[in-house]
Amino acid sequence: MSKEGLLLVLSGPSGVGKGTVKSSIVENKVFPFEYSVSMTTRKPRPGEVDGKDYFFVSVERFKEAIANGELLEYNQYVGNYYGTPVAPVQQMLKAGKDVLLEIDVNGAQKVREKMPDGVFIFLTPPDLHTLHLRLEHRGTESEEVIRGRIEQARKEILVMQDYDYAVVNDTVANAVDHIKAIVDAEHVSVKRV
Ligand code: 5GP
Repeated sequence: MSKEGLLLVLSGPSGVGKGTVKSSIVENKVFPFEYSVSMTTRKPRPGEVDGKDYFFVSVERFKEAIANGELLEYNQYVGNYYGTPVAPVQQMLKAGKDVLLEIDVNGAQKVREKMPDGVFIFLTPPDLHTLHLRLEHRGTESEEVIRGRIEQARKEILVMQDYDYAVVNDTVANAVDHIKAIVDAEHVSVKRV
């Protein structure tokens, strides 16, 4: 049996609820894993904690991280940079721990190119209308940003076929149950022996 941990990549359109599903997995300790904290130039939302939700950095610091090869992948999304620091991911996998990334579809595609053994899970909204309502409900984005995100989501849904699994986020509890089932199955998959 391989002793390296599993790289679990949770992705899908912005607003589909990746963050909520990830938080539920973290808070309810649904299965053991380490969460990869991303770096971003976005400003913190109320309640977000530096070093826990994201490493909130300046554009200069982010560009330095790119130049130094500190990031496994990065993407520019609605005017901000987001990226995955590579060193902690590699250390945790080597130590036999499963690592969870919650990233956008462009980032997931880049991770797939570098780490094809990862488990790629696509979270889908029941439909785009629900996605719109969720973004409005969040209330932290302008109409223009919401429109931009929905246009992005249409394109992102087309890339679903590149994933190992698709999980519908109808309720957070259902989505989390499905993800736990996927992780359990991957741990006993003969393809990984
Ligand atoms: P938000 O601003 O709502 O926290 O995140 C916006 C988008 O960026 C979401 O789709 C989120 O999954 C994605 N994201 C968060 N961290 C990363 C990262 O490290 N890399 C990439 N490519 N996307 C990320």
